[in-house]
Amino acid sequence: MRSTRLPSLLGSRYGPLLVIQSAANLLLAVWLYLEYTHNPFMQTYVSNVLATDWPEIAIGVSVAIVAVVALALYGRRYSESLPARLGSKSKLEDLEEPSNLARLDMCPFCQTPLRPISEGRLQCRKCRRYFKSSLPKMAA
Ligand SMILES: [Zn+2]
Repeated sequence: MRSTRLPSLLGSRYGPLLVIQSAANLLLAVWLYLEYTHNPFMQTYVSNVLATDWPEIAIGVSVAIVAVVALALYGRRYSESLPARLGSKSKLEDLEEPSNLARLDMCPFCQTPLRPISEGRLQCRKCRRYFKSSLPKMAA
């Protein structure tokens, strides 16, 4: 049952730690419940705490639930997008292979970004020089 609920987490290196922590939490919860059902002093204590501090307890419980849900969603998205991210990174490296392409988006005279005006033509935003998309022209 546990392995079907959290397969990705249990497959990671934190899996054993997670199982041990869950078991410890479950043991503590069961012990607290047994103590509560058999100890009248604890029953009065718990009812007093619930009567005086219930807004704080409600806020704490809701914050904990939100944190757990956010962590679960983040973990799932991270594990799913990791191969996609690696694939897109290798694609980007293929595109950046020619070294002169890296300078194309900057004017070599005033180091401002170039604006594409048509297919294969760029214009500097500051000095209005025109450039072909292959190599920058020296004069406009
Ligand atoms: Zn310029």
